[in-house]
Amino acid sequence: MKVLVVGNGGREHALAWKLAQSPRADTVFVAPGNAGTLGEAELGVKNVDIPSDDVAGLVRFAKENEIGLTVVGPEAPLVLGLVDALQEAGLRAFGPSKQAAELEGSKVFCKDLLRHADVPSGDYKAFKDAQGALSYLNDREDVPLVVKADGLAAGKGVVVCDNRAEAIDAVERIAGRREFGDAGARLIIEERLHGHEASVLAITDGRTILTLPPAQDHKPAGDGDTGPNTGGMGAYCPTPLLSEEQLAMVEETVLVPTVHHMKRKRRPFQGVLYAGLMITKQGPKVLEYNVRLGDPECQPLLMRLKTDLLEVLDAAVDKRLESLPPLEWDPRPAVCVVMASEGYPGAYEKGFPIRGLDDAAALPDVKVFHAGTNMINGSVVNVGGRVLGVTALGDTISGAKLQAYKAVKCIRWQGAWCRKDISDKAMTYQ
Ligand code: ATP
Repeated sequence: MKVLVVGNGGREHALAWKLAQSPRADTVFVAPGNAGTLGEAELGVKNVDIPSDDVAGLVRFAKENEIGLTVVGPEAPLVLGLVDALQEAGLRAFGPSKQAAELEGSKVFCKDLLRHADVPSGDYKAFKDAQGALSYLNDREDVPLVVKADGLAAGKGVVVCDNRAEAIDAVERIAGRREFGDAGARLIIEERLHGHEASVLAITDGRTILTLPPAQDHKPAGDGDTGPNTGGMGAYCPTPLLSEEQLAMVEETVLVPTVHHMKRKRRPFQGVLYAGLMITKQGPKVLEYNVRLGDPECQPLLMRLKTDLLEVLDAAVDKRLESLPPLEWDPRPAVCVVMASEGYPGAYEKGFPIRGLDDAAALPDVKVFHAGTNMINGSVVNVGGRVLGVTALGDTISGAKLQAYKAVKCIRWQGAWCRKDISDKAMTYQ
């Protein structure tokens, strides 16, 4: 079967690498891909120069090339309706429809659904303008709150506030000055939850849910979770933060009612459902839903997955996940360390040649997934903020961490940096 993976990040490199290992995969096209996917030619991976938000271009390509399955990586094309457009053209696609992708595309829709489905989450109120939100803030006691723009704002539309003054400022930025554009047309003021965060992802066909082992992302730029938020500076899997009983509870009290309610709302959900959770003293509560694999959580997850991913995604599209045997996992944990360009998450310079990739790849149990890279005049250069996801397996989490950082040490380019403490939090949960 010919496969098309949409996107150009570390997640898409990991997806293409894993899908191409399936005996059922012929060519795996990646649109637009990066230097990492370009380097997987031996596995039958090929880059296609179509941007991930060019819905018409992607549909045309999939039709002309008789693509058997399209797997959509990032949220933007899902929210734009790429899966609907492919299906209307008679093509098969893994990922939610535009209506189901609202679960990530609109925080108001998500919170309303969680409330109706009785899924544990922070208390909240939604507002259509700054005025309503400001008078609500003035009327309530001065407590820590979170202010969120309704729409997609690349992780920047969420402001965690210590007090009322900060919340007022956040409302003015989001709904008053519209710093995040239309994403701030509506907003939410939410109870601030306390605890540790975990990511629980599941593959679902809208009926059956395959819950994946829990992972943990590291969003802040600095060691010890300090500094500005990023797209994610590293992840590991499985995290001991959630016990098996708690994971079963998340499935029962979070994932099952969500999938059920989406069906009842005539927005059946097929794809990856990703619950961003806060593990509070009262138990796990949902912070947000994403409607695709997390980046970087995807990299350690797929490094550990033994089952043929193409079989699983193909079965999800055909609504026959129920008939599959349980997913098989490498028992060893995996750690992914993100290497970034100097200045990220702010402005950064591009085009520096990256050295040492072959030395890193030669280490046992290591895979270097590319994100913001490109091949220019025969050398791999940085073109994005997050550049590489250096991922390793180990007998323990610390063993995997050691191996991942050993590989990181082999790689260099001007200004390259990474967090030094990816997965250290795991030690505090054991
Ligand atoms: P992403 O980039 O993951 O898509 P997002 O814009 O969808 O981010 P959220 O994941 O909802 O935003 O929130 C970002 C971060 O803000 C969370 O990872 C968490 O650290 C913090 N956060 C969100 N909601 C709350 C809450 N109710 N209480 C405490 N912290 C919160």
